[in-house]
Amino acid sequence: MNQVDYLRISLIDRCNFRCQYCMPAGAELDYLLKQQLLTDEELLILIQEVFIPVGFTRFRLTGGEPLLRPHIVELIEKIAHLPQTQDLAMTTNGFLLAPIAQSLYNAGLRRINISLDSLDPHIFNQIIGNHGRGRWQQVWEGIQTAYNVGFNPLKLNVVVVPGVNDHEILDLAALTIDKQWHVRFIEFMPIGNGDLFGDRGWISSANLRQSIRERWGLTESQVRGNGPADVFQIPGAKGTLGFISQMSECFCDRCNRMRLSADGWLRPCLLKETGQIDLKTDLRAGISTKELKEKVQEILNIKPEINFKQRDSGTVGAYTRTMSQIGG
Ligand code: SAM
Ligand code: SF4
Repeated sequence: MNQVDYLRISLIDRCNFRCQYCMPAGAELDYLLKQQLLTDEELLILIQEVFIPVGFTRFRLTGGEPLLRPHIVELIEKIAHLPQTQDLAMTTNGFLLAPIAQSLYNAGLRRINISLDSLDPHIFNQIIGNHGRGRWQQVWEGIQTAYNVGFNPLKLNVVVVPGVNDHEILDLAALTIDKQWHVRFIEFMPIGNGDLFGDRGWISSANLRQSIRERWGLTESQVRGNGPADVFQIPGAKGTLGFISQMSECFCDRCNRMRLSADGWLRPCLLKETGQIDLKTDLRAGISTKELKEKVQEILNIKPEINFKQRDSGTVGAYTRTMSQIGG
């Protein structure tokens, strides 16, 4: 069985974007109140006294938009400097990144994924649901700054939505030719905006690879990450292309992760709501971290049965939380 040692930690459910694939159109989301969020102190207790002792050593900070979390630099410093932390990464939309990139790096963050779904500022604004001027430019500056500061690998995440940004696949893939950037195409999932998913559907990684292969050729890369991406390379390119195919392929058997929401719910499987436990309420009720550790160990023991494992139907069920609330 796979070692489950990777925890995705959502720091906040709020976001300064409203990406059409991630949140439902129109409807107001009920954001968590400040007192519902795990505090920094509670999060550190859970990491040190619950997650690390049961084998978690790799952490990714996500959201919502993690850079909206107050005191993010200090929090990163504390997690990065725990002796057992082997890897600390972040997924961000990059909008607030440029001015803080150096501080994040100095605090010990070494890996960063930035979402960039379009190279066209107009389409970008449509996707993020915000028509303010200069949004795309600001994210682009965030990407450049992060790269110059030394974030390597620097990964760009692209969710491909038919009829929205699929015509840009080749341009996005071309970013990997001259720069050591890693562009990762993520199949659109029905978590967040089921209506858009119902209207547009999704494009398989195999189809994307076919388009790229026809243009430049494509080889399987020697680089293989720990995660679910299948990694390829345009011949001679400096960077790589990753394909995350959770709709068309089933990688549940090699799943190595769990997710902790900003309000302290531990979620064993992205695609299923089964088996979640509310660690924050337990912690605040005074339940000892020894007992919490046992609860998490129990979830780890039954995770193989909880994992989704069936992917024939294309869509995978109803979700009470959006992707922004789960953390991707
Ligand atoms: N705000 C940050 C960002 O956008 O990078 C972090 C949180 S976001 C929920 C994490 C990842 O989930 C992003 O790469 C985003 O593109 C992806 N995501 C959101 N909704 C998705 C969906 N319906 N299908 C596939 N990926 C999705
Ligand atoms: Fe916000 Fe990230 Fe979701 Fe976009 S994908 S709405 S940036 S949480």
